[in-house]
Amino acid sequence: MGGIVDGRHAVVTGAAQGIGLAIARRLAAEGARVTIADLDGDRAEAAAAEIPGAAGIACDVTSEVDVQAVADRALGSGGLDIWVNNAGVTKDASLRKMTLDDFDLVVGVHLRGTWLGVRAAQAAMRESGGGSIVNISSLSGKFGNPGQTNYSAAKAGIVGLTKAAAKEVAHHGVRINAVQPGLIRTPMTAAMTPEALAATEASIPMRRAGEPDEVAGAVLFLASDLSSYMTGAVLEVGGGRGM
Ligand code: NAP
Repeated sequence: MGGIVDGRHAVVTGAAQGIGLAIARRLAAEGARVTIADLDGDRAEAAAAEIPGAAGIACDVTSEVDVQAVADRALGSGGLDIWVNNAGVTKDASLRKMTLDDFDLVVGVHLRGTWLGVRAAQAAMRESGGGSIVNISSLSGKFGNPGQTNYSAAKAGIVGLTKAAAKEVAHHGVRINAVQPGLIRTPMTAAMTPEALAATEASIPMRRAGEPDEVAGAVLFLASDLSSYMTGAVLEVGGGRGM
């Protein structure tokens, strides 16, 4: 008891591992009842089993039906206060090698997925008396990474979506902000060669990759009343990268 999101109901997408799992743990540690929504329902339930009061549910964020079902379930169980659009994939390739399927998959999960999440969450929050939506963008969407034309486009798109939606719903008591992580140690970045990781770390002012919990801290801030006068903002969590 006494946490900064005590008694709130939070949904985190793509939270069976990585940054999403760290966000789910942080929100739960600060008193929220958390729903972990992930592509694989068994992995979502397994992750939730480790977190007091959490529940896991299968949800493909590109599916309108799945996303709506998560929002409806939250509303039916006493209201929705926090929704974090975190699910993500990468399919890196140069323009010479990237296929249209690679583009559609990445833009679909990040941009369509976030749009579906924002639409469903803001409607449920308006019925619940307000709430906070946090969208996970990336510094890749700020400065563009070669080999990530799909991912950078989607992550930049999330910023525009965040601001447009924030303007639409601010007067309904719904705040919508975004976080742009830099290089974070997760299964998504585990595929990098040690050389590529070291080269990227050398280019970061703080000279290291970030940890998932360091992103979760920023998300907790935006999800909570500590940021009660912030909407449409983009917080960079990148150790000073790209400033
Ligand atoms: P991760 O370890 O790969 O975790 C992503 C999670 O999302 C996985 O559990 C994945 O499930 C799930 N997912 C994928 N497609 C989904 C879908 N259609 N519906 C629901 N869930 C889906 O990635 P992460 O590194 O924690 O990244 C989390 C977020 O932070 C992403 O939006 C990512 O783009 C962003 N980000 C990461 C970094 C970084 O350096 N790691 C930097 C900037 C931004 P499966 O494993 O079953 O596919």
